[in-house]
Amino acid sequence: ANSPASSILPRTPTCLNGSNKLTEFHSHSGADPRLAGGRLTIDIPALMANYRLLGELSGGARAAGVVKANAYGLGIEIVVPALLAAGCEDFFVALPEEGIAVRKLAADAQIFVLAGLFEAEAAPFYSEARLIPVLNTERDIAIWEAHCGVEGRALPCAIHVDTGMNRLGLTVERALGYARENALTRAIEPVLLMSHLACADEPMHPLNRKQVELFRRVREAYGGVEASMANSAGVFLGDSARFDLTRPGIALYGGQPVSGAAKPIRPVVTAEARVAQIRYVRAGERASYGGAATLTRDTTIAVAAVGYADGYHRSGSGAGVPLRAAVPQGAHGFVAGRRVPVLGRVTMDLTLFDVTDCGPDAVQPGDHIELFGPNIPLDEAAHAAGTIAYELLTSLGRRWQRHVIGAEEDRA
Ligand SMILES: *Cc1c(COP(=O)(O)O)cnc(C)c1O
Repeated sequence: ANSPASSILPRTPTCLNGSNKLTEFHSHSGADPRLAGGRLTIDIPALMANYRLLGELSGGARAAGVVKANAYGLGIEIVVPALLAAGCEDFFVALPEEGIAVRKLAADAQIFVLAGLFEAEAAPFYSEARLIPVLNTERDIAIWEAHCGVEGRALPCAIHVDTGMNRLGLTVERALGYARENALTRAIEPVLLMSHLACADEPMHPLNRKQVELFRRVREAYGGVEASMANSAGVFLGDSARFDLTRPGIALYGGQPVSGAAKPIRPVVTAEARVAQIRYVRAGERASYGGAATLTRDTTIAVAAVGYADGYHRSGSGAGVPLRAAVPQGAHGFVAGRRVPVLGRVTMDLTLFDVTDCGPDAVQPGDHIELFGPNIPLDEAAHAAGTIAYELLTSLGRRWQRHVIGAEEDRA
């Protein structure tokens, strides 16, 4: 009981933000704030505002919350209660174990599992936790029909039809055929018909219209079953792709599904790295592995305690590191009111920043450098590493302190 761990348990600090009094929504999760190399600040009011905005933009459709991959790396124990408090009643995860974890947080929600049934022995886990399998193949359907037979009742499920992405789902023909068969046998109880858009982030792409038209045809065959097609970008496509239930993920967490939208998505996550050391290096010297960065001036380097093991991708290494051509200048951080470039290679646990322009003594050990957040957009940080916001968030890993701020009045 008197272990060292209990004496270093985080206290619950209070934060002030403008005129709004903000307090902790949850206590911390992840690493102890005094010991962690990186800090993720998760803005619960922004997350809830994004959910409400996506609900508004979904028109008459309900908005679900896509919380697969530990809520895109933010932590389901943080995200699910906030989405519930904002009125979300439907969740999507990729794998059944993610669904079981969501069920512990959301006793009454509909929880859909996208992966399908890998084997017959998987089915009892679904009914046990009242998870709704998304059936993607004839084999999935056969497994679920057999399981319903054993249970003695038609259990809810979703039917996934592939309308042009060529990833998961029944063909349109097979989905139409199965609608007739199940109407006769009633072996399973489809509660949702779904499909996924391949090019929703390109609003003018002709495949969008084609997929929507095919999906409408299948939907007619399933009578009153609810239908779902739109991911975050699909919500911004307008009426046509919304159907009964939308499935936003990345936009909840602050990713911009389309640029220049009238009502902007709010940033939700700020990632910051602790400064472990400041060093002063002469022009002509080199920095980080391989000596890839040659310093062209006397340089102040901040050594920050986050690296690629934390999902700060090596491909965001600084100028001169020959990893990729798309963004030659590499990633930037933000500290002391300035953008500061990554210097040389990002390493496993440490990243160097050129903080010379911040002025002498402006950055000190123990300070935090923003990697993305209000000053470095999430999508920019991802682009600088040759990737997308989804991959950046879902790569964050376990070593971060997760610091959660939430408006008191929004508490459930
Ligand atoms: C991940 C996923 C979503 C959410 O997509 P975003 O682009 O993050 O909004 C929706 N539907 C399916 C089938 C998915 O796999």
